Amino acid sequence: MEKKKTAYSFEVFPPKKTSPVEVIYNTLEQLKDLNPDFISVTLGAGGNNGNLAGHTIKVAAKIKEYGIEPVVHLPCVNFSKSEVSGLLEEMKSNDITKVLALRGDKPSDGSPTKNDFTYASDLVSFIKQKYPSFNVMGACYPETHLEATSPEKDIENLKRKVDSGCSGLITQLFFDNNCFYDFLNRIRQVGINIPVEAGIMPVTNKNSIEHMITLCGASFPAKFSKVLQKFGNDKDALITAGINYAVDQITDLIANGVDGIHLYTMNNPFVAQRITDAVKGLI
Ligand code: FAD
Repeated sequence: MEKKKTAYSFEVFPPKKTSPVEVIYNTLEQLKDLNPDFISVTLGAGGNNGNLAGHTIKVAAKIKEYGIEPVVHLPCVNFSKSEVSGLLEEMKSNDITKVLALRGDKPSDGSPTKNDFTYASDLVSFIKQKYPSFNVMGACYPETHLEATSPEKDIENLKRKVDSGCSGLITQLFFDNNCFYDFLNRIRQVGINIPVEAGIMPVTNKNSIEHMITLCGASFPAKFSKVLQKFGNDKDALITAGINYAVDQITDLIANGVDGIHLYTMNNPFVAQRITDAVKGLI
């Protein structure tokens, strides 16, 4: 049977606003050699956007210099339309034309959000109307977005976002592939037919994964809980077990014809390298 090309991409986050942007360049140097289809750069996840946009675009411009396609995350609730236009112009001048359109979260310091955008679909429509040359992706949630009133409503809202002009979707991290397959069936049934990249986060630190899961609501399958129970307090063993778990997940996803794998690298090129080596022959 002919092997289908599986897209393979990474996500990185820019340094904190008090650190020089160059601190991530060493990570990018190593990630670029792994030759991903694109590297996406977060922007202020956790709700503090304004000051960080410059860092995100600088990191994306560096990725472009390396000959790899950058994707800029653009969470909209904390920006006005004119600020978004300014960011898109800055991206254009750096030859960056691919964005992940996001709603974003309210600022963690309690400061008010701007009122120009309510949902990510508003941003998708805005970009497609004003900057049609941009390629726009969106986020999706195999286990349902935490604020959604029901899984069905969440998919209805996702359909609206996709119909506004998304070219592809990236999922929230998940540890149970069956949740992803079930989600994929449900979105295909309502006519969402664009590629969906599966977000995979290798677990290499027990505390940070527990924090992350509280934020995003991903479920722990029994197999995964056992890994954490057995290796959670042994740093080196957890790194190996976490990488192996991610490789198993990716192998199963590719065997089931997934459109793409999006690796949440946590800026750790060592882990990305080990996973990439393990799955290279499959993608
Ligand atoms: P939306 O698509 O707007 O959905 C948000 C909620 O509103 C959902 O519950 C949805 O069902 C509901 N909804 C949507 N449209 C409507 C409507 N018309 N009427 C009623 N309800 C509606 N955040 C950052 O700040 N920076 C980042 O860099 C970042 N990167 C991310 C990358 C990925 C791959 C993912 C999955 C998330 C990322 N996030 C980031 C987090 C994201 O901003 C939050 O999860 C946010 O809560 C939702 O964003 P969204 O774009 O999915 O929102």
